[in-house]
Amino acid sequence: MAIDLTAYRREAEEFLESLDREYYLHFSGQQDDFEIEPIYDRHAGLFARGAVDGLREAGAAPALVEFAAHGHLGRETKAGSAELARREAALEVEWDGERIPFRSAAVVQANEPDPDRRAELEGARNALTESELNPLLRELFESSRTLTKDLGWSSYVSMCEELSGIDLGALEAQTTAFLEATEEGYEELVEPQLRRQIGLGFSDLRRSDLAAFFRAPSLDAGFPRERLAPSLIETLGGMGIDVASQPGVTIDMERRPKKSPRAFCAAVRVPDEVYLVIAPVGGREDFAALFHEAGHTEHYAHVDRELPFEDRYLGDNSVTEGFAFLFEHLVSNPEWLRRRLGIEDPTAIVEHARASKLVFLRRYAAKLAYELELHGGSSADGLEKAYARRLSDAVHVEWPSSSWLTDVDPFFYASRYLRAWALETHTRAAMRERFGPEWFEDPEAGAFLRDLWRRGQGSGGGEEILDAVGGSELDFRVLLDDVAEGH
Ligand SMILES: [Zn+2]
Repeated sequence: MAIDLTAYRREAEEFLESLDREYYLHFSGQQDDFEIEPIYDRHAGLFARGAVDGLREAGAAPALVEFAAHGHLGRETKAGSAELARREAALEVEWDGERIPFRSAAVVQANEPDPDRRAELEGARNALTESELNPLLRELFESSRTLTKDLGWSSYVSMCEELSGIDLGALEAQTTAFLEATEEGYEELVEPQLRRQIGLGFSDLRRSDLAAFFRAPSLDAGFPRERLAPSLIETLGGMGIDVASQPGVTIDMERRPKKSPRAFCAAVRVPDEVYLVIAPVGGREDFAALFHEAGHTEHYAHVDRELPFEDRYLGDNSVTEGFAFLFEHLVSNPEWLRRRLGIEDPTAIVEHARASKLVFLRRYAAKLAYELELHGGSSADGLEKAYARRLSDAVHVEWPSSSWLTDVDPFFYASRYLRAWALETHTRAAMRERFGPEWFEDPEAGAFLRDLWRRGQGSGGGEEILDAVGGSELDFRVLLDDVAEGH
């Protein structure tokens, strides 16, 4: 039976609206229940096998087929995913004579000043991952593989490539070249920052120290809680966006006991109802998270409402992540730090951000190569060794193999982040060139961004944005220059 595309789009939009509203109400602390099962049940037809086939036969936009196929895999593996979440939530780590939840042990570890205790805690977490989570994750991995074949694709990789329009092999060639080109200068750039933040060099660094390095509590002093919301409102104001009166955007700053401590964006109706939720705590990472989510919020709130559903909600997430990174980067931009937070000497913050980003880029480059190996091979047997080797080589630290399945993003989301970092670097360079180093103070820069945001992330994806900022192709060499100079 031929599928009615108009009806499908309408129902898909209703589904996402219900889902995101439930997410917003629960995680903003306004509603205890998180009832997403009934929402899925109500719209089960969206993710039926017949819907995926019907959309393909009708020649629907790849983003729409992707939505249906991802939903189909999610629905078919729902019981396993729920069991995984249940197990993870119930796990506890024995620590200092107490039992602490597995999920919060990572936070305790990042804040633990003693490296030996960090290693001990990570060892306990890794053991639980291996014994309690990996067997089930392996089953889920095999199910996804089988389901993809049942849908008629030759492999998981070819399904993801066809539906995302991203040539993962070509992307991997670029990120591998980036790994090679940064290999020599890597330790020289990162080691002084490691020493400054956690007192360790590469010779005595362990994987369990990395979170403490990224966390860098010594840098929090410049980021007081009372400046969190005002610095965002002033920054948007500088770009000509009066967020208080902006149609479609609600900044939810109210204190509620059950509010998520982490900022998030909920795009309930694009572009007419977008929430930016903050529980103002303060500290550098909170500012970074808030600005990241504000990038998503402004992007969604400016999308042209005349665009079809798939171009407003779906498509190439490299685009929305790119705008999120553009805003997040302000929090380590020396001009912004001086002007918005009055930090006279931002050197320590800027250098830490640059070193962290290089570690992240190399980690994600290795992750993409590994995920292609995992999904591209005929069997996952023995792949934990490949995972540990690739990550160890990229980050220059002995990397445990236990996270070989937990550290895998569904549908190669790592490729979206990698493309977003490159896209952000192109966009930021264009902003500086057109509007100067204090581009965030220029209403013309805001107008320029609004024109990019209007396009959503539909048919042209990241490449359309790239074209508009004057780039010819998504080129990882811009990241090399960026790491070398830092702006
Ligand atoms: Zn994001």
